[in-house]
Amino acid sequence: MIYLDNNATTRVLPEVLKALLPFYQEMWGNPSGLYPFAAQVAKHISQARENVAALLRSQRESEIIFTSGGTESNNLAIRGVLQSNPDKRHIITTQVEHPSVLMLCRQLEKENYTVTYLSDPAELEKAIRPDTGLISIMWANNETGVLFPIEKIAGLCLAKNILLHVDATQAVGKIAIDLCKVPVSLLSLSGHKFHAPKGIGALYVRRGIKLLPLVYGGGQERGRRSGTENVAGIVGLGEAARLAKKRLDDGVLENVKALRDRLEQQIVKNFSGTKINSQGSPRVPNTSSIAFNGLEGESLSLLLGEEEICVSTGSACSAGALEPSHVLKAMGCDSKQARGTIRFSLSCETTSQEIDQTLAALEKITKRLHG
Ligand code: PMP
Repeated sequence: MIYLDNNATTRVLPEVLKALLPFYQEMWGNPSGLYPFAAQVAKHISQARENVAALLRSQRESEIIFTSGGTESNNLAIRGVLQSNPDKRHIITTQVEHPSVLMLCRQLEKENYTVTYLSDPAELEKAIRPDTGLISIMWANNETGVLFPIEKIAGLCLAKNILLHVDATQAVGKIAIDLCKVPVSLLSLSGHKFHAPKGIGALYVRRGIKLLPLVYGGGQERGRRSGTENVAGIVGLGEAARLAKKRLDDGVLENVKALRDRLEQQIVKNFSGTKINSQGSPRVPNTSSIAFNGLEGESLSLLLGEEEICVSTGSACSAGALEPSHVLKAMGCDSKQARGTIRFSLSCETTSQEIDQTLAALEKITKRLHG
């Protein structure tokens, strides 16, 4: 199998699995216990928190809250901040966010909040109102890999004294993040996007920011996310964070980018009329969203699947109708281009040979589809 759908999820790395397994059968104590068997487990949670903080260059491990993933982190950040500041009823976000932000904002509108959905981050300053309680903008888009100018946006938010939440689920592990330099208030990440297990993630909350919990209980995570810790998941996330930092430091992402760029160049050269979506914009190094001229992304991805090559499409199939994705639509893609789009997302495990095999399979399939 050739797996080029790493923005959907990634394989748990062997080192990560090895690090987390002892926490099921050997060190299975509840970290809140008062005996050494529990303290030993708590120590590993601290280490994982340090590793996650180091990946983000957050200065204090107490700024990291473990959650079940990107969806929960986004919900906790947005609701947690709004609840602690009930007079602020306006939120600014973008049209291309993940559903875990967009659907929550739709719900908040029903709860008498007002939401501005930006189509262009350049409109941000104009959209700010006296009652703006939070700005929530993703760092990297999951479909196109496009990076928002978070450094600039964070500077503006700081100057205007408005909290900024960043959904960095698709950025963490793919670009270097330095929260000492970029003054975001809250940041979401998800383990399964960088080789940790599914169902574990984190929310970074800068010191001093008031956040009310969504889940009340035993007071774990300094009362901000109660519930007995997912110890194995947390340890896996910590190890995955350590390895992700090492890959960034060692330049592994540059190799990933070289493979991605070669894939794009060969596709544009070999298939007439293909277009790389958002090619001119800054993007994460692993993602390529490509519109194939006159073809259906859905058919292409199904036929690639038959060749054991996993990719995803730029369309969501709802109630039998192929709707172009909200992201491509918001970017101004016409529906033909959106329908012809497939997303390739590589990882540190992708090989040059796999790119060659994918190109050969595309050649064979497009010939067949064009008749
Ligand atoms: N935000 C973005 C940008 C994502 O790509 C995803 C996962 N597809 C999420 C949030 C949700 O993360 P999780 O699957 O961990 O809930």
